[in-house]
Amino acid sequence: MLRTHTCGELRLENINQEVSLAGWVQRVRNKGGLIWVDLRDRYGVTQLIFEEGSTDKNLLEKAAQLGREFVVKASGLVIERTSKNDKIPTGSIEIKVSDLEVLNPAKVPPFIIEDETDGGDDLRMKYRYLDLRRNVVREKLQLRHRMMQETRKYMDAQNFIEVETPVLIKSTPEGARDFVVPSRVNPGEFYALPQSPQTFKQLLMVSGFDRYFQIVKCFRDEDLRADRQPEFTQIDCEMSFVSQEDILNTFEGLTRHLFREVMGIELEEVKRMTFADAMKYYGNDKPDLRFDMKFVELNELVKGKGFGIFDSAELIVGICAKGAAEYTRKQLDELTDWVKRPQIGAKGLVHVKYNSDGSLKSTVDKFYSQDDLNAWAEAFGAEPGDLMLVLSGDAKSVRKQLSELRLKMGEDLGLRDRTVFKPLWVVDFPLLEWDEETSRFHAMHHPFTSPKKEDIPLLETNPGAVRANAYDLVINGVEIGGGSIRIHDKTTQQLMFKHLGFSEEEAQKQFGFLMEAFEYGAPPHGGIAFGFDRLCAIFGGSDSIRDYIAFPKNNSGRDVMIDSPSTIAEEQLEELSIRVQLKK
Ligand code: ASP
Repeated sequence: MLRTHTCGELRLENINQEVSLAGWVQRVRNKGGLIWVDLRDRYGVTQLIFEEGSTDKNLLEKAAQLGREFVVKASGLVIERTSKNDKIPTGSIEIKVSDLEVLNPAKVPPFIIEDETDGGDDLRMKYRYLDLRRNVVREKLQLRHRMMQETRKYMDAQNFIEVETPVLIKSTPEGARDFVVPSRVNPGEFYALPQSPQTFKQLLMVSGFDRYFQIVKCFRDEDLRADRQPEFTQIDCEMSFVSQEDILNTFEGLTRHLFREVMGIELEEVKRMTFADAMKYYGNDKPDLRFDMKFVELNELVKGKGFGIFDSAELIVGICAKGAAEYTRKQLDELTDWVKRPQIGAKGLVHVKYNSDGSLKSTVDKFYSQDDLNAWAEAFGAEPGDLMLVLSGDAKSVRKQLSELRLKMGEDLGLRDRTVFKPLWVVDFPLLEWDEETSRFHAMHHPFTSPKKEDIPLLETNPGAVRANAYDLVINGVEIGGGSIRIHDKTTQQLMFKHLGFSEEEAQKQFGFLMEAFEYGAPPHGGIAFGFDRLCAIFGGSDSIRDYIAFPKNNSGRDVMIDSPSTIAEEQLEELSIRVQLKK
């Protein structure tokens, strides 16, 4: 080894030891006859000292020539520092260097490689390997590593078998576009990259594997956001001979295990809520339960008092922001502008202040008396000091708008504390979702999800009302995982494809293998997949999953470091029998 210790290891106990360290020069402070160098590796920073008089002249000169990010090996004696730095664990000692070897010089890095950096996003992504030298970035990947190890530990202890499934496959519908790969030996044919290993894990159940898991890359060609990457990682799982309850318990167990082992947190009980309630009370299928602010519907109370906007609205619904009656006129105007932005799309915002003297002041005083407003306050459970915010319109849009407003108010009032974790199972999702664009039903989860038995007759009469044995794990308003009990017989699966608008031939062509497998003894089964990157981001307290991915892509799906995607050579295209002709 080039080193006897790491740069994070030496303490007062090591004084007078001869040691060798190797690492990167983080900083050089040259005070003429006295040079300090901060030497960094993954474990920490240790100070090196070179002093005129006691340090050899050549050595002093060599030290003076060190630049940022040079890779060096330094040998010398551990001594006690005269002025100690209690901010770093090695702050009581320094190394009086007797030998210095430059293992590799470095160009001046394009940004400062410290916790606080001057590098913007784009620059840091282009030089991601340098960005990864920064503690704050590396620590996120270390968290990811811990999560991965603990996941494997838990799953193994629960008798799950980790099986790898192929990456060059045929389309698995998870609601996104496929990435495709041309086949050289089968000209004109393409593989699809898995949006998830869904069909394979179900086939493994037919094979009798009984409990499968895999920490696996999935690929979805979707528009990107902070919590989406074209390739991302799932903890993918499937179980046989289980009920929904068994799956929820097993994966509540995994979540609990991760919180305990990785964060030292004893997770509170995971609440349950139906999809219908989530939509009714939070306007959202992934409610953030770190704060209350439930929706209160006001139709009964507010209609028929001459206020046309409410009278003509399908739904009048509001939230009560505790203690926000102090909001100034300006703040309230800003809030109104905020809900009217095209991204939110509300027509306006009605507010009622419950003043500390018990009086109520609203923007609709013309139509509603104090008694009326008192009745609203009662419906909201409001107290003096609270602010009631009310939106109206068609039910679907208004719920969505109010959900956004609720999250904003939660944020503004400091109720979305990143160190508090509120897990929730959302259950009883609808099986199908109407898609305006294509004018047909889509599987809300995926086409292999089983309808609730009692709802099957509704498939013919009211498909939108059929509930599925499907569930999501939500933490702090983020969908962390989702799964379902599956269909395991050919007839139901065929029926499902029919309702999704597949012709018999299409269904056969795309999923014939699965339906055939169901004819060879398929056990009842179900499973779930966790978005691993998101789970890491929640644990680490960030919004962006990118921080938890070693080499992420930017918002246009580009890896700016390796410059991909890129065109390929003529010969490669030739081999693939492909000619590229871009449409205008
Ligand atoms: N394959 C599903 C997904 O990726 C998860 C599951 O149903 O197990 O969302």
